[in-house]
Amino acid sequence: MPKYPKPIQELVDSFRTLPGVGAKSAERFVFRLLQLPADKRSAFAKRIMELTDVIKQCTECGRFDVQTPCSICGNGKRDHTTICVVAEPQDVEAIEKTGEFSGVYHLLGGTLNPLEGIGPDKLAIEKLVARIKKQSPRVQEVIIATNPDLEGESTALYLTRALKPLKVKVTRPAKGLPMGSSIEYADELTLSSALKERKEM
Ligand SMILES: [Zn+2]
Repeated sequence: MPKYPKPIQELVDSFRTLPGVGAKSAERFVFRLLQLPADKRSAFAKRIMELTDVIKQCTECGRFDVQTPCSICGNGKRDHTTICVVAEPQDVEAIEKTGEFSGVYHLLGGTLNPLEGIGPDKLAIEKLVARIKKQSPRVQEVIIATNPDLEGESTALYLTRALKPLKVKVTRPAKGLPMGSSIEYADELTLSSALKERKEM
């Protein structure tokens, strides 16, 4: 017999699929939602529905926006010959905040992690190769801005090899980002200077 009525248990299970949310937190979220006034709860549900109904994934770079191509790919003032490769959508926002980068992005959707079954086929690597091959004006530089941790470094190495035949300059943000740290949480100044002083792979 389930512990809670089915709709409650199912929502608890849904919350548990989110990163860092265990059973206790999931239960707290659901009961907090149940204690909200009905209109607030509906507004919460509506915002989740809008992720499906309003948000689109950019066909070029994989970012989430209300339009595709997204506001960055569709912006003629951005430098389309420089592509910055990132693992997660939040990394784009972190880099945009530095004001240091005027190129376009490519979202991988994660990093290589054999233990969790994330191989190259699970990431948008083939899509990146295809994008570079077909794009005109020709792509001049690919900056691999994955996190300076084990998965991020091995992903950068894999990408460098995959991009080699395309004869494009491949760089990585300079050291200064501490090993094991993440792009998302790096302070703007550190991230900004790491981007400025990038090293060729
Ligand atoms: Zn885009």
